[in-house]
Amino acid sequence: MKYPFLDLGCVNEPYADSLVAAAERVIRSGRYIGGPEVEAFESRLGEMLASPFVIGVSNGLDALRLILRAYCENGVFSYGDEIIYPANTFIASVLAISDAGLVPVAVDIDEKTMNLDTSLLEAAITPRTRGIMAVHLYGRVVWDAALTDCAGKHGLKIIEDCAQALGARTLAEGLHASPFAGALGDAAGISFYPTKNVGALGDGGAVVTHDAGLAKTVRALANYGTESRYNNIFKGFNCRLDPLQAAFLSVKLPYLAQENADRFARALAYQRTISHPDIVLPYMSSEVTDHVWHQYVIRVTGGKRDQFRQKLAERGVDTDIHYAVPPHCQPCYADLAHGPLPVTERLAGEIVSLPIATGTSVADAAEIASIINQADLGG
Ligand SMILES: *Cc1c(COP(=O)(O)O)cnc(C)c1O
Repeated sequence: MKYPFLDLGCVNEPYADSLVAAAERVIRSGRYIGGPEVEAFESRLGEMLASPFVIGVSNGLDALRLILRAYCENGVFSYGDEIIYPANTFIASVLAISDAGLVPVAVDIDEKTMNLDTSLLEAAITPRTRGIMAVHLYGRVVWDAALTDCAGKHGLKIIEDCAQALGARTLAEGLHASPFAGALGDAAGISFYPTKNVGALGDGGAVVTHDAGLAKTVRALANYGTESRYNNIFKGFNCRLDPLQAAFLSVKLPYLAQENADRFARALAYQRTISHPDIVLPYMSSEVTDHVWHQYVIRVTGGKRDQFRQKLAERGVDTDIHYAVPPHCQPCYADLAHGPLPVTERLAGEIVSLPIATGTSVADAAEIASIINQADLGG
């Protein structure tokens, strides 16, 4: 038996006929930039998240870049201001901060949730701190009173990196009425990279916000810095969502809740079946909806990760690591100052992602779990 980590053809197979029909509709429409397909998708996403402003953009990194740039253009942030981010995130969260001329400040993570340790926020605040990049990593919502209290007390913007957590909800109180990740904070960047819980057939992303002024600037920045044709208010970019991708995303978005429920069922099969002395399972809260299992990430302790992955590979199980090298350890951030980040650095050597997407059935997950239980990693 082969258990691939992720097979994108398989992910999209259930939608193939509708995707072909959507492509044909766009081809015949003669409208290949902006227009009704993009607008329809933006309003679908806004309705789902209960958020008034959605701007379709080119990808998740650009969504975050545009938010931060827009805060700079609007005079909310200025050059050299500091933005706090969780040290174990995907590089794009950090690239967006430095691209806007802001300073990324790494804060360590909570070992249990593998998200930002909000109890460390207060100690990371300086007179230049202006925002917190709240990354819902692996699909788990990071949101609590320590986060909102700290942001409120110091007047910080909370920017959600919701690339991995579309559809996740929390019982904790957001800044607005919506319980959805992506509509909890001041603004959120979403990614529709093909591997994400809702994936396009290419790149795509969205900015979501309750802030009308921010939305206006983001939309202008994404379109050469224009609000009306040939009137360049900002030195902008070309970061638009293609109508073709918008049409594909409109096909897939209505099935997100079901897709996320399927991911949860696979996660539960792993959770109930894996039992191994060298393995720590991810925390699963009783809230259930606060995690959409973009990745199911276990930890292999005792320096046995490579051996573990090798044993699984021999039994046909592909695994991955998200992420082996934290951003502050990457060559491009060699000059970035940071305090000690012991949890992030230890966990980077222990984490392993198991197959969780469409293509891995609940029965497959149970079988992979029993292969894991049989893995002899020595004493
Ligand atoms: C995927 C991802 C991004 C970037 O999205 P792209 O669409 O690939 O640019 C940003 N942050 C996180 C946490 C991601 O997983």
